Amino acid sequence: MSYTSTPAVAEPIADAAEQAAVQSRPSTQRPLTTADRCDVCGAQAFIRVVLSAGELLFCGHHGRAHRDALDRQALFVQDETGRLAPGA
Ligand SMILES: [Zn+2]
Repeated sequence: MSYTSTPAVAEPIADAAEQAAVQSRPSTQRPLTTADRCDVCGAQAFIRVVLSAGELLFCGHHGRAHRDALDRQALFVQDETGRLAPGA
C-alpha cells in the first residue's frame, strides 16, 4: 500500500481571504461631480476627505483652508482642485 503522492499543499484559506479583501476593497476614489457640495458653504466640492467616521466635502477654498488639519486626521484626501481652471 504505497503509492507516492506529493504532499497535498493545502492552500491556506487566510491567503485567499486576504486576496479577496484586497480585490473587494471599497474604492476610496470616485469622481466628484457637480452634485458634490462643500459642507461649509455649499459650493461645488473639489476635495473629498475620508475620515474613519465618514467623509467630508470641501470646495477649493475651504479644502485649502482646512487642509493641514484634514491631512492629520484623514484616512484619504482626494484633491481635484487641479480641475479648477483659473478663470473658468
Ligand atoms: Zn466651501
